[in-house]
Amino acid sequence: MSESALFPTYARFPITLVKGKGSRLWDDQGKEYLDFMSGLAVTNLGHSPDAVKEALVSQLDQLWHVSNLFHNPNQEKAARLLVDNSCADAVFFCNSGAEANEAAIKLARRYYQKVLGEQRFEIITFNQSFHGRTLATLTATGQEKVKDGFLPLPEGFRHVPLHDMDALEEAVNENTAAIMLELVQAEGGVIPVEADFLRQVRELCDRHGVLLIIDEIQTGMGRTGKLFSYEHYDVEPDIFTLAKGLGSGVPVGAMLAKAHLIPAFTPGSHATTFGGTPIIMAAVAATIETMLEQKLPERAEEAGAYLLRQLRAKLTGLPQVKQIRGSGLLIGILCNAPVAEHIAELHKRGLLVVPAGPEVIRLLPNLLVTKDEIDEAVDLIADVLKEHATVKPVN
Ligand SMILES: *Cc1c(COP(=O)(O)O)cnc(C)c1O
Repeated sequence: MSESALFPTYARFPITLVKGKGSRLWDDQGKEYLDFMSGLAVTNLGHSPDAVKEALVSQLDQLWHVSNLFHNPNQEKAARLLVDNSCADAVFFCNSGAEANEAAIKLARRYYQKVLGEQRFEIITFNQSFHGRTLATLTATGQEKVKDGFLPLPEGFRHVPLHDMDALEEAVNENTAAIMLELVQAEGGVIPVEADFLRQVRELCDRHGVLLIIDEIQTGMGRTGKLFSYEHYDVEPDIFTLAKGLGSGVPVGAMLAKAHLIPAFTPGSHATTFGGTPIIMAAVAATIETMLEQKLPERAEEAGAYLLRQLRAKLTGLPQVKQIRGSGLLIGILCNAPVAEHIAELHKRGLLVVPAGPEVIRLLPNLLVTKDEIDEAVDLIADVLKEHATVKPVN
């Protein structure tokens, strides 16, 4: 590994994956894996889904890239699908989750400064949140580890504890432009936001003329059992962001907003070269269409309920398991000690899972996952947790 020409930014698992289809992956030794991480909530339709592959291949024969200085029917189609199936009225396409959140922050500030003529700029986010790795989005992120060594950070961000309404009310002031949050804090440990809290946040936003931004980058695209996780709540955001599951594996992000925010972005105010190019939009449109045609959010809701039930049936009572929580097919097993060894052992036995913070095993199967695959995964997890409980007691 020392001869790698790459920056050592990732602590990589000792596995080289070379092929994927549906829920299965194969490494360069021919070993098969059951994929319960989906490239981190990206391959929500499974690996190389036929409908998306066909759309990509057919677009490859037509036109790969065109500048955003020209009309782009694929981009219009993908945006229409998103707008017709959400509370949003307009979409801006970019290339990643961080960029989508960056666009959301820019839109919120510009809305106040250019449309309403107010100098509001501050964004309030929550402890343990994760919003990306650009300078603005790592500043928005409520975790110190992503900020280490990157000072000075941009101004205009404040953090408060999740579910602490008093702290939030105190943080809101005449400079507040927006409150931004994930509805399941995914990287932060798979922590679902309580419905009552979100309702109070929305009310606070309305009372103070503050925008509500929901980061749906991990929770969106059917992952939690609805197309977008805000649909579980009686609340609509002013702005929300998507990325991971949006294109089945092609790099894409999207920032979506309600009608009143549209005038805040005028020609020249925001742009990106690769945002929404024909090839990427072909994959996005096919992903959304497949998701809707096959009712994948509903499947995810059912499969998620089954997974949660099986995990609770087989893991409850194990000494190191503290809590099993989540929404749809975004589930965390909170343990009372670091889970890195359990995860390495699961990988050895052919189940790919990923941590969410040091003590949570995170499960993110694709939305077409079968009961048999769930049973297989739960049995492996139960075996490993049981063996580790006896062989390696936590001290
Ligand atoms: C992954 C993620 C991001 C960042 O997305 P990138 O595509 O890695 O920039 C932001 N917010 C949430 C909730 C995420 O899960």
